[in-house]
Amino acid sequence: MHAYGVSPEEWKDYIFQKGENAYRAEQIFSWIHGRQVLSAAQMLNLPQTLRESLSTDFEWPSEQQVQTLQSRRDATAKVLFEFDRRVIETVWLPYENRQSVCVSVQSGCSLNCTFCASGKMEFKGNLSAGEIVEQVYSSQNAIGKKVTNIVYMGMGEPFYNYDAVIKSAHLLHHPKGLNIGVRKITISTSGVLPGIIRFFEEEQPFQLAISLHAAFPEKRREIMDVEKKFPMQEMLKVLRANRKSLRNNQLTFEYVLIDGFNTGKEDIRELAKIAKDIGAKINLIPLNTEYNGMRRPDQATINQFWEQLNALGVVAVNRKSPGEDIAGACGQLAGKWAQKSPL
Ligand code: SAH
Repeated sequence: MHAYGVSPEEWKDYIFQKGENAYRAEQIFSWIHGRQVLSAAQMLNLPQTLRESLSTDFEWPSEQQVQTLQSRRDATAKVLFEFDRRVIETVWLPYENRQSVCVSVQSGCSLNCTFCASGKMEFKGNLSAGEIVEQVYSSQNAIGKKVTNIVYMGMGEPFYNYDAVIKSAHLLHHPKGLNIGVRKITISTSGVLPGIIRFFEEEQPFQLAISLHAAFPEKRREIMDVEKKFPMQEMLKVLRANRKSLRNNQLTFEYVLIDGFNTGKEDIRELAKIAKDIGAKINLIPLNTEYNGMRRPDQATINQFWEQLNALGVVAVNRKSPGEDIAGACGQLAGKWAQKSPL
């Protein structure tokens, strides 16, 4: 097991089994999540024997970080990791007053949304909680700044790796660790309904983003296979039923803008209706790829879409797409590096 993915309770069990003093569990947790050490050897206040056991009983980060790409146009950086011969991409997104890290949860993605690069690479399975946490700590080390926000919007589908994703979010939120507020941790799903239901049942405190991308089921089916498995109408029913248990602004719908496809008047009206019905904000993402002739609309159309949503009383954010020149924008993560140089 990866040491970064061990919960406080699991450390207690481990320490108990080793016959060590209970407070050692907290010391280990603080070293890892408070100071982000790379190995047990760095835990200076632990007995030598315990440090040795920790080194052999757990996996530790081992120069898996293979490359950092810095955007020339903005301060975005992409950090490439290799875990068990699987290449993972993490994106560092600096804004004026926040430093966001966009983490991957799988190597590749088992979904195939027509517009997304991650679905086009070979799917190589889930990442562990520790591997998700490591992306954050190692990026922070590489960039030399403190991360303030985490978005689960890299490669993969978070709710097909539910346990590891939720565990990692709690580790990153832990007061003895990075202590990132629940409002600053956003998990994005394509609409995997069992995961959404579980998220509500467990009353998870994190922000939830749902990739809607079309206001009509027929349209959504054309670009997202997941619509066939988990129809949006069922999902909207569940969201409506849980509306009261959602915190203000906890839910966002993501809507990728594709020229001539989902930007018409009827799309805006229906989208506004859905958003108001559920009490969700909209996050507009102009398309970042060009598969099968799909393009982003021109800036005037994007602005109009945004204004009309606002006029209908819906809060919409028009997300900029930093890092396009390093293929670090939403939907561009595809482990390209892996294709270029064999591991
Ligand atoms: N599997 C999760 C996380 C994916 S990435 C999900 O589907 O929500 C985060 C967001 O980027 C999703 O809304 C996704 O649909 C969007 N996205 C994917 N490809 C894109 C592209 N080419 N341009 C813009 N946004 C894209």
